[in-house]
Amino acid sequence: MQRILKVTPKFEKAYKAGYPLILKEAVHNMNNVTEEGMLVQLVDEKNQFIGKGYYGKQNKGYGWILTHDENEKIDQLFFKKKLQTALNKRNQFFSNKETNAFRVFNAEGDGIGGLTIDYFNGYYLINWYSEGIFTFYDYVIDSLKKLVDYKAIYQKKRFDVGGQYIEEDGFVEGERGQFPIIVKENGVNLAVYLNEGAMVGVFLDQRDVRKAIFDKYVQGKTVLNTFSYTGVFSVFAALGGATKTTSVDLANRSRAKTIEQFSVNEVDYENHDIIVEDVFQYFKYAVKKNRTFDVVILDPPSFARSKKYTFSAAKDYKNLLKEAISITTEHGVIVASTNCAAFGMKRFKVFIDQAFKESNEKYSIREEFSLPSDFATSKEYKEGNYLKVVFIQKE
Ligand code: SAH
Repeated sequence: MQRILKVTPKFEKAYKAGYPLILKEAVHNMNNVTEEGMLVQLVDEKNQFIGKGYYGKQNKGYGWILTHDENEKIDQLFFKKKLQTALNKRNQFFSNKETNAFRVFNAEGDGIGGLTIDYFNGYYLINWYSEGIFTFYDYVIDSLKKLVDYKAIYQKKRFDVGGQYIEEDGFVEGERGQFPIIVKENGVNLAVYLNEGAMVGVFLDQRDVRKAIFDKYVQGKTVLNTFSYTGVFSVFAALGGATKTTSVDLANRSRAKTIEQFSVNEVDYENHDIIVEDVFQYFKYAVKKNRTFDVVILDPPSFARSKKYTFSAAKDYKNLLKEAISITTEHGVIVASTNCAAFGMKRFKVFIDQAFKESNEKYSIREEFSLPSDFATSKEYKEGNYLKVVFIQKE
């Protein structure tokens, strides 16, 4: 069954130009659709076909357009073709001997919003971002099984099922992994867990940034890695010749996880500092102790609340930068990163400029990064290109 959704005049142009996300405010009769996974057809005021897709409630919208061809069927073959095309685009990644962890399917960037698939050294991990996309489970799993060789397929349901659902280990097919599995990124080992919670231990979208840090910025330098999670930036910095790294994260688990990432690379973690503390607290401490760093990495979540502080990237990034500027050595480098989709590179650079002006410091931008090529994006959906990383040198 297919529901007809009539697009309001204000949004007609955007949808006709290929905007893929179905927004509640963009259609007249969203309330008619109640069933997750239901196929929907978007039409204009004159009932002319615009596109079709599925209903699936996500934090950002109500489903995704999948095709602008009225005659194209959304069936097994449709999913298989999209997957095949995406896999072909990653041929270079599959044949790269130094890296075996990358994204093989990036949601709307590969033609199906709400679905991502990552590859980890023979293991495939599917992320389902709505109950609606999950109704296409058989199409996706059957297609994947036909198209690739795998050790195992795992999945994560990134949607809330009325608080009822308790995620099991996410195992779908093949032979269960022994976690951590060790994957490689540009020759560096990374410990990955596909069976615990939403995060696996490494964010694949920062691959090129880690390589840049390793190649160009850390030889003989001291490095502060804030919001360090499992410390992967610190590992690349240590292997890239940093004299010492300091990792700071609030989460208790971060210490053991960081020790593990150092250890799978045979780096002695005792030569590095791993600190479980609120980053904002740590900045105060560093200022008081006159401690400075040659390289400061800032990679906060878009939004975070700790006991004492609330951080929102859109509101507070400028202040975070000012804190970093105050403990960066002269000619030192700040790696400013954000995955906040609420603003683009232009505004991010305004934050950077304001932070330096208000600190009475000069700076130059050494280089910048957005998503790597395996994180394919749709040019009609700019918000999907969320990553912004700027290497800033203090003058
Ligand atoms: N930079 C990491 C990813 C960061 S994920 C990487 O490349 O792998 C965000 C991390 O910020 C989480 O581990 C979370 O525990 C930490 N965090 C959130 N608020 C914090 C705070 N106020 N102080 C320190 N760490 C914080």
